[in-house]
This record gives sequence, structure tokens and C-alpha cells, in this order.
Amino acid sequence: MTAGCTACGHKTLAITSYIDRSVVVMAADPNDAGRWAHDGEKFVDGTYRVACATCAHIVFEHPDCPRCHTAGGLATALATTSRLVIPKRCVNCNELELMAIAMVPAVARYGGGEAPKPKPLVEFGEPGYHVVAYACDACDNAVVAEGCALCGAAGPLRPRP
Ligand SMILES: [Zn+2]
Ligand SMILES: [Zn+2]
Ligand SMILES: [Zn+2]
Repeated sequence: MTAGCTACGHKTLAITSYIDRSVVVMAADPNDAGRWAHDGEKFVDGTYRVACATCAHIVFEHPDCPRCHTAGGLATALATTSRLVIPKRCVNCNELELMAIAMVPAVARYGGGEAPKPKPLVEFGEPGYHVVAYACDACDNAVVAEGCALCGAAGPLRPRP
């Protein structure tokens, strides 16, 4: 990561990244706001834009899919809703509550001295919010998105840290 803005020299950068979020879903609606399920390495791994928090100068920007690196895949990921749709009930056992893992674009400030707190840029169901997998605790039925959950490319997915 860079030491600061290359234009104005300020240290605080706004870093935009696709990161993992876990959410409990009840009858196809999120039960809560969800929580981040990432570590620092995954945050860095999914970074697609770094901008100065002071002058908005773009320090780094990458148009490829943050997950599979398909050329131009970022625009697809941000413009489309989740291809994997969570059903109202588990198709196996009719359970209403399902656990989902999603990848969500988020922005966090780095360099201000405090620990970065990513803020989600979109909500469940909005374009850019992509469900990667969901599972039923009651019967262990698990469904994973085919190919790249973000841009829909067939893959192969690259390994993550
Ligand atoms: Zn700047
Ligand atoms: Zn992709
Ligand atoms: Zn089930």
C-alpha cells in the first residue's frame, strides 16, 4: 500500500475493496446488517480503487474483476445484482433461516492513525452486492455460486490469501 497521496501528500487514503460479509437471511430477507468476515489480507486483495481522502486524487484504480481478474469485470460486478439468489426456504428441509456469505464493495480510510472501519457501499439486494454461498444450519445443505460470484465469468478463480 502506498504511503500517501501522490498529488497533495496527505497521508489519509480512501480504499475501496470487495470484501466478505456474512449475513443471516430469514425468508429471503436479511435478518441484520451482517458483519464483515474478512481479515486484513482479504481487504487488500479485493482492492480496486485507492483515492486521496483530502483531494480525491485517484492513486490506484483497477477495472478488472477483483475476484477473478477478468478484464473489465469490475463494472459488471458493480452494475449487476447477485446471480446467486437466496430462496425463501431451504429447498431440502424448509428451514426459513439461511446463513449467507456475500462479497460487498466497501470503503475504508487508511492512514489516519485509527484502525480502518470498512463501510459497505451497497445493501443486500442492490447492484454490486453478490452472494457467494448460502447454507442451512438445520440440514447442512450448502449452495455455492457457479464461476465468479462477482462478474459471472466461468473461472477459474484465482486463489485468495
Ligand atoms: Zn491528495
Ligand atoms: Zn470475476
Ligand atoms: Zn435445510
